[in-house]
Formats: sequence, structure tokens, C-alpha cells
Amino acid sequence: MCGVHKRVCRGIRPAHRLDKVTEASDIPIRVRPEIAALPPYKQGKQATGGAYKLSSNENPFDPLPGVLDAVHAATSLNRYPDASAARLRERLAERFGVDVESVHIGAGSVSILAQLVLATSGPGDEVIYAWRSFEAYPWLAVVAGATAVQIPLTSEARHDFGAMTAAITDRTRAIIVCSPNNPTGPVVTQAEFDAFVATVPADVLVVLDEAYAEFVTDAEAVNGLREPGGPVRENVVVLRTFSKAFGLAALRVGYAVGHRRILDAARSTAIPLSVTAHAEEAALASLAAESELLERVGAIAERRDRLAAGLRDVGWRVPEAQGNFVWLPTGDETMDVAAAFDDAGLIVRPFAGDGIRISVGEEAAVENVLRIAASVVKDLPEGHPGRGLA
Ligand SMILES: *Cc1c(COP(=O)(O)O)cnc(C)c1O
Repeated sequence: MCGVHKRVCRGIRPAHRLDKVTEASDIPIRVRPEIAALPPYKQGKQATGGAYKLSSNENPFDPLPGVLDAVHAATSLNRYPDASAARLRERLAERFGVDVESVHIGAGSVSILAQLVLATSGPGDEVIYAWRSFEAYPWLAVVAGATAVQIPLTSEARHDFGAMTAAITDRTRAIIVCSPNNPTGPVVTQAEFDAFVATVPADVLVVLDEAYAEFVTDAEAVNGLREPGGPVRENVVVLRTFSKAFGLAALRVGYAVGHRRILDAARSTAIPLSVTAHAEEAALASLAAESELLERVGAIAERRDRLAAGLRDVGWRVPEAQGNFVWLPTGDETMDVAAAFDDAGLIVRPFAGDGIRISVGEEAAVENVLRIAASVVKDLPEGHPGRGLA
């Protein structure tokens, strides 16, 4: 039969056959070599059987009041969503005292980051960011065909702005600043940020990634949306997300505030209609539940401070923690320490050879983390970077 209807047969080849084909590494499809060399994306492990998932900086609370109702009410699954998420843009524009054109919505702020890098940086261009920082940054530069320029963090796990300024060349097109820095925790101060941006040429984009802004309690911290009217410098774009403090990670919605000309360029690179109606409704309902949001964010920040203080008390050297996570500089012992947490039902995020990020999750997990952390710190060799002064 297939001999006669060859094309049809090929079209209905069962899925397992397709899997086999795509798994083979020797098919002659030409993939850009830098893409072929990328490691496949590895998500934080999923929790099973009573384990705590502390590996993806997720919010442990249920959605804010009104959110599930708003999502259920958005029932027109047969219709495309509003392409620009106009109501959410208007609401955010009002809140931050900017015009609607200065707000852009994306399917998660990572997708806006990708758009901004694509819009500004191509082959031969350079994208500067601190390292270690958010895992997506290297990947974004590679996908755009640009060159990533990674500037090591200081010994306090903070951005080294002197080195970042020194790295700017006439090929620099974008600079990403992450505050609080994921995964290490410290904020960039407002003074540091203002002084740094003053050293950046006006034609270079600075992206201030504030995915964890709502958790920040340090009064010195940068806040890109402190002043009504949006970022003071026209080459700065501020990114925020509904995934972390607002607890909408599954729905994929984030936003950018910045100059219209930059955001228009980002919009031109966007995959159309990727922000769903459900995500927009959920974000609007979440913004309407401000007092509950502040209560939860306050609880998580308090839990974080208690966790960081407890870790320091038992002998860990923990950098300033201003997001919803803490960082253990476990160095060469990273995978062993992560295994000890894993054995105790605590799924953490190890970065081999460097450190472990532990999200602030359920209250009950705090005590467990402290117990395991106290037992493993004793096994660290003398002079290990994870050891504090205690
Ligand atoms: C989580 C995170 C984001 C945003 O994630 P989305 O879910 O795509 O909005 C952006 N930047 C950093 C540093 C993050 O940790």
C-alpha cells in the first residue's frame, strides 16, 4: 500500500518512528554549529512523593484571590488573544506613570529578553553580562548569533561594574544587569547602577532584569521603576515578571518598561500572539490583589532572611540574599552536597563546580534545609569557599 501512496504513508508515520529519526545524530540537516553545540535545556527536577521542589525559584503559595476565576472566565479558546495585551499594558502604564507605548508584554520576561537581544545584537556584536548569573543569558546571545562577554562576579558574588565598563567596545550592543542576581542573591545598588549606566554609550542597550524586584528589602537596591515616567536613561529597559512574586510561572507573562523605540524593535522580533488571554487575565487579577501580594512577598522575604541567617549560623558563607532564594558557594563539592539535600527530599539547583541555589519554598522546608546544611558544612575541607567565619 505504501508503494502506491508513498506520500500519504510518510505523512502518517507513527510518532515513535519520528522520534527515532530525530534522535539520530547523523542526519544531514545543516544546523548552525553554535546551535548544535548548545547543551539541551535542563529544567529543575520535578518533586515526587513528598519532596520539596526548591530548584526553580517558584512561589509556594496558591494563586492570588480572583486569579482562578479570571482565568476560568476567559473561555474563548477558539479566538486568538489580543495581540498587544492592551488592557494589561494600560494597567501597567498607569501604575508606573508611563505611556502605553513604553510597556511591552511577553510570554515570560525571558521571551522579552530574547527579543531585545535579537533586536540589537547579531553576528560580531557583543552582549555583556555578569557571570555567574541567569542561565538563559549565554543561550540568548548564542541564538542571536552574537558573542557573549561574561564578566566574573566579585568575591561577594556581586556585579563587578568596573570590569563591565572596561569590557565595553564599539561592538557592544547590549548589557544585561540582573538585580537581585540569580542565582547568587545580591542586589545592584541604585548608586552602582546609576554610576555604571553613566559609563555606557547612549547607543548601547542596558537591560535591567528585575525578576525578583518584589522580594527586595534592601533600601539601597536599584529600582528601575522608582520614578514615575519609567527608566531615567533612554537606553535602559526594565524587565519584570509575573512568574515569581505573583506566582504565575505556569502561565508565562512578563513585561518590559522602556523607551518606545527600543520596545518597538523588540515587538518586531516577537512571535505574534504568544501572550495568551488567560495569562493577561491572570496578570490583571493579580495586580488587583496588591495587599495579598504584599503579605505573601513579606512572608517569603522573612523566611528567606531566617534561612540565610540560619545558614550563616551553622557555618556557611552565604552572600546577601534579596530574591526568593539563597546561594551556597559549594565549589568542587557541589554535586555531593546537592545529593545530600536530594536524599533528604529537598530538590535544590546545583551548578556543578560552583554552588547551589535553594529557593525559599514552604515553611516546613526551611527547617529541613537548615538541618541538612548544618550536617554537610562540617564535611567541607578547611579553607573551603563555602565556609564562613562561624
Ligand atoms: C525567572 C527569571 C526571569 C523570568 O522568567 P519568566 O518566567 O520568563 O518571566 C527572568 N530573569 C531572571 C533572572 C529570572 O530568574
